Amino acid sequence: MSTNGELIIISGPSGVGKSTLLKKLLEKYNDKLCFSVSYTSRKSRVGEVHGVDYHFVSQEEFKKGIEQNVFIEWALVHDNYYGTSKHHIEEIINCGKICILDIDVQGAMNLMNNNVKAKYVFIAPPSIESLKERLLKRSTDSLAVIEKRIKNAEKELSLKDRYQYIVVNDNFDNAFNQLENIIIRGG
Ligand code: ADP
Ligand code: 5GP
Repeated sequence: MSTNGELIIISGPSGVGKSTLLKKLLEKYNDKLCFSVSYTSRKSRVGEVHGVDYHFVSQEEFKKGIEQNVFIEWALVHDNYYGTSKHHIEEIINCGKICILDIDVQGAMNLMNNNVKAKYVFIAPPSIESLKERLLKRSTDSLAVIEKRIKNAEKELSLKDRYQYIVVNDNFDNAFNQLENIIIRGG
């Protein structure tokens, strides 16, 4: 797929602040940026909207999508399927906007290995402890789910050097400015 480089891949462990950073960025630059809404077999959380946060589908529907080659990448993350539609990305890029993906490290590695031209950005936490605190404070997941996400975070963090940019989300405003520089001002 030709992306003309107008593709931004954001990864980072669960709870690091990806959605919060992206929400602010997408609101500020809604004329320039568009978020690619992923498909997932995960159940929606309170407040999440179908078609806005994710396209929530059953496992069977997701597997059908894999068979039909709908996804540019997909992965099993924390026991749920997540995937990016090729068609969505094409639509966004064809209408002249920068397309933003929030995907896990497996998905990002798949794109890198397939030579998909993009800016690859890893959002890192100041520490694993702060990650756990944020997940607990967010109160959207059970303790067991949080433990699983923290365990995965260590694996994810070990791959951060494969990314072109690493942004540490310690102070939110600093992290936001760095992201803004990379995405809007060309890094
Ligand atoms: P992700 O999308 O990476 O899973 P979220 O954006 O949902 O993470 O953020 C997880 C929690 O951390 C949210 O409650 C959010 O308000 C909070 N948060 C985000 N950035 C910071 C920060 N820099 N300092 C402290 N808390 C933060
Ligand atoms: P959450 O369940 O917290 O919304 O997301 C869990 C993880 O799935 C996050 O790391 C997020 O980046 C990742 N994710 C979301 N959409 C996709 C996708 O389309 N593909 C892949 N590979 N990962 C995704």
